[in-house]
This record gives sequence, C-alpha cells and structure tokens, in this order.
Amino acid sequence: MTTAPALKPNPYFPIAQLQCETDAGIETIPLVEERAFSSWQPTIPAHYQAMAVEELTRRIHAARATLGERVVILGHHYQREDIIRFADDRGDSFALAQYAASHQDAPYIVFCGVHFMAEAADILAGPHQQVILPNLEAGCSMADMANERDVRSAWRELGELFGGTNDIIPVTYMNSAAALKAFCGANGGVVCTSSNAGKVLEWAFTQGKRVFFFPDQHLGRNTGHALGIPDAEMVLWNWRVPAGNLGGAQPAALEGARVILWQGHCSVHQRFSLTQIAEARAQHPGVQIVVHPECRAEVVDAADANGSTAFIAKYVANASAGAVIGVGTEINLVSRLAKENPDKTVFCLDPVVCPCSTMYRVHPAYLAWVLESLVEGHVVNRIEVPAEHKRDAKIALERMLALK
Ligand code: SF4
Repeated sequence: MTTAPALKPNPYFPIAQLQCETDAGIETIPLVEERAFSSWQPTIPAHYQAMAVEELTRRIHAARATLGERVVILGHHYQREDIIRFADDRGDSFALAQYAASHQDAPYIVFCGVHFMAEAADILAGPHQQVILPNLEAGCSMADMANERDVRSAWRELGELFGGTNDIIPVTYMNSAAALKAFCGANGGVVCTSSNAGKVLEWAFTQGKRVFFFPDQHLGRNTGHALGIPDAEMVLWNWRVPAGNLGGAQPAALEGARVILWQGHCSVHQRFSLTQIAEARAQHPGVQIVVHPECRAEVVDAADANGSTAFIAKYVANASAGAVIGVGTEINLVSRLAKENPDKTVFCLDPVVCPCSTMYRVHPAYLAWVLESLVEGHVVNRIEVPAEHKRDAKIALERMLALK
C-alpha cells in the first residue's frame, strides 16, 4: 500500500489531505482566467468576464437588495462558497425544488446548481414563477448519460424480450432530465432521490416484477444490495452498445434480473476507492468513513455509513467532538463541513478530488449577470419544461411523495 503524505495542521482545512491541488480551483478567480471558460456559456456580456470577485460580490448584494422578495436564490450543496453565501436555502436538488415551490410569492427562482435541478424546480413551481439557471452550460455528466431516445429504445427492446413492459417499473433518479421523469410518469414509474431510493424500489416491486433503474448504476446497485438483492439479479444495460443488442446483456441474464441498471455514473463519486478508505483507516485509527451512495458498491460496503448529502451533513454534525471523519463526496461540501465543524477533523477521502466540474460553472459573474438583468427587467437563461413533460413528470414525482 502506498503511504500518504504526513499530515500538517492548517487553519482552514484541518488536515493536510485537504491541501490538494484542487483547493486552488475552489478559490474564485475572474471568469476570463478560468481555464475552461471557453467551453462555458459565452453569451455573458464582456464586462462581467474580467470582474474580480469583490466587485461581483458587491453587485450581487446590490441586485439582491433591489429585487427583495421577488427573487429566491437556491444553492446546491456542491456550489462554491462565493455562490452558496447568497443562497436563501441550500440543500439537495429535491429539497431546493420544494423550497422554491413553497415560495409562491417570488416570481423569480435563480437555481445555482445544474440543468436537471432547474428543470425540477420548474416542474414544481407555480405557473407565474420563472426558473433561471445562471450558466446554461452547467449540466450533469451523469444525467447526460441517459437521454430520452436511448431510454425509449431500451424500453422497446425490453418490451420485445419480455412480451410487454407491464411488469417493468421504470425508476429514474432525481439526477435526470425532465423528459425521463415524464417517461416514468407515463409508464407507471417513479422518481427517487438518494434519500428514498430504498423505499421507492420496495414500492416498485409491489407494482411489477422488475425495475429498470436509470441513470446511476451505483445508486441502483447499492440500493438493491440494501434490499438483499444479489448481484446475479442485477444486470447492467450498456447504453453505448448499438440498439438491438439488449445493451450488451445476455437474454438469460435479463430474464433472471430483478433490477436492470443503466450504465451511468457520477464522475465525482466514481473516483472514491477502497485504497483511499484503507489509507484513511491506516493513518487515523478510529476514523469514521461516510460516503455518498453514488460511490461504487465496494466503497459503500467498506464505509461505516452512506447516504445523501443531507445524511452526510447530519452524520458529521452529530459526531462527537474530536471525531475524525473521512468523507466521500464533492469537495465543496466537504470543505464547508470542515469549516462548520471546527471541533472535528473532516477530510475528503480523495486527496486530489476535483470539484464537480459542471456545478463549478456557476461562477459569481453569471449570478451577477442574471440578477442585474432581472433588475433591468429582463429574464435571461430561463429554464422551461414543456407542458406535457411537466404533467407526466409531476405524476412520477407525486408517486414518490406519496411514499413518504
Ligand atoms: S456531482 Fe455528479 S451527479 Fe452531481 S451534478 Fe456533479 S456530475 Fe452530476
């Protein structure tokens, strides 16, 4: 086993493991200096592009004050500090969408997160509310691994194999396009979050013989394991395999499957490994390990606990003073938990963990631009889900809510 570098105290991040090369990437620099800016939304007016974070912060505060209660700003847990500080509420995607829907007096909802989250907020928002995504290029690589065309094509193939789809319940993770939530709503299926996936799968098995789970194979597999479903009864559907080939699976394996897993993953959570957990345990006897269920099954199995971002935050908050906690999730949340729990040592299991590169695209320049546009009376970057998708996606979301 390789030996990790010796730990040194740091006033900001309590242990050296957090002083990784990506820490510099969490600091906000002017938009134009961001290496990846050329692939972000280029239509932001030029004068925002070179502004320093101090100027952007001043402008955001001023626009915010002018707009008052007409705007609600939402910040996902994985947003950078220079964004989350403006959030009226922070949380996971579903909690934030519910928060927005409960603030019907605000006509504008600025969702600092990624595309599918803004769509979910629009699905739940009132007809008079407009949802804005500061940077239209802030997508989610996992959600992008399942597009509607590929899922419909797989559904057709499964229907041909099984002589119909009545016994297959489609379940989509919250991290998916509105079109897929609508597909589930229209086909007897449901949406799940990382908090309620177990309950949702239990319900699905009361409705049919098999579950077709997308887009995250790891959440699906980990949830299946927690329900006692063996690997032999969970089959992977590779969407990269050309249509007509059953996603690369054998017909006999599909016949015996209770869960058909879409071969999608989160590029952030898939980085966590057994080696990192072993190193953390070797360096910190008594360390508590908590990871997100988007991590691989072997990582989830080796951890002391796993759960959603809300679960992880609670786990850290409830740990005793002096506890050392290794966390397997996105670096912005881990860094925030470290700062908010100074009586504990909280560190990221991956010493070179990258921030979620798409969440990171919500730079304060974009937030300043969309808010100042609202002050001037223009809505830019509106996310609007087509009415028929909204209707069917709501059915899938309501089925989920009815399970609580
Ligand atoms: S952390 Fe993973 S699942 Fe979440 S937005 Fe980023 S890529 Fe998507």
